[in-house]
Amino acid sequence: MELVCPAGNLPSLKTAIDNGADTVYIGFADDTNARHFAGLNFNEQRSVQGVEYAHSRGKKVYVAINTYPQPSGWQRWIEAIDRANRLGVDAVILADIGLMEYAASKYPDLNLHLSVQGSATSHEALDFYYQNFNIKRAVLPRVLSVAQVKKAIDSSPVDIEVFGFGSLCVMVEGRCILSSYVTGRSPNTYGACSPASHVEYVENDIKLETRLGDVLIDAYKKDEPAGYPTLCKGRFESRGNTYYALEEPTSLNTLEILPQLKDIGVVAIKIEGRQRSPAYIETVAKTWSAALIQLEQGNYQTKNEWNQALSQVSEGFQTTLGAYHRSWQ
Ligand code: SF4
Repeated sequence: MELVCPAGNLPSLKTAIDNGADTVYIGFADDTNARHFAGLNFNEQRSVQGVEYAHSRGKKVYVAINTYPQPSGWQRWIEAIDRANRLGVDAVILADIGLMEYAASKYPDLNLHLSVQGSATSHEALDFYYQNFNIKRAVLPRVLSVAQVKKAIDSSPVDIEVFGFGSLCVMVEGRCILSSYVTGRSPNTYGACSPASHVEYVENDIKLETRLGDVLIDAYKKDEPAGYPTLCKGRFESRGNTYYALEEPTSLNTLEILPQLKDIGVVAIKIEGRQRSPAYIETVAKTWSAALIQLEQGNYQTKNEWNQALSQVSEGFQTTLGAYHRSWQ
């Protein structure tokens, strides 16, 4: 299986490749991708350098252009596709059908992948993108059990990539409006869930409060590790109890079911985290490439040291199999 690692900047791209990634996925420095944070992503010069670095080492680069353009920004989104094509990248990852149509008709040789933001889970949805835009691959949303992923693969006309590790989006991907409800900026169009411009940390002698817009997301005791304020992972009061009402901070980790994912026909494992540091990228790329090498050698066993390394870079320092494992199914 192909190891697809995130890269939010050139140092991360090099780190991913030097530590075993087969492919890196990047975004341009604007709202055309779903990790539009200040100081992150690739300008013209950096993207040329990144593609050169990867290709000269036999590795691939995908470009995520996976937000939904608004009418006033259409030109910016198609220029991103033009630029990705000029760069000679190995695929663009798209969600919007208008962009799919533009890319498929203008650049028939450019490989198109359906983004997780497209939220395609059925044969009919996957076949639609294949028949109309000749996509080569789809990334499934993180809401399916292993049995459901297998069902999708069995009838899919295209290759299937799934998330193997990283932060979780608990809502239907590409359609979550929690952050835009509070900040007025949608992750699906502006490209950032919890944009830093709306984040506030307020500290006093006994606690640290994190806020998004004017909403209190969490309050931490003095020595408690504080997470980045994301609405779905806040502690809220509901019916007299204060707790993680929507989702506990945790990261997906599928090392345990890697052989199963291979057996059912998953072609690529995607690691989340373009917003994370080169140190995170080094840990995940090194750990996941070691696991995939062992899987290829046919003597796979999840090592404690792998899980320990991944826990250290996980949200809330804990991991989950997420929707892949549903004991009641
Ligand atoms: S609020 Fe949570 S579920 Fe919604 S886009 Fe942000 S991280 Fe994903």
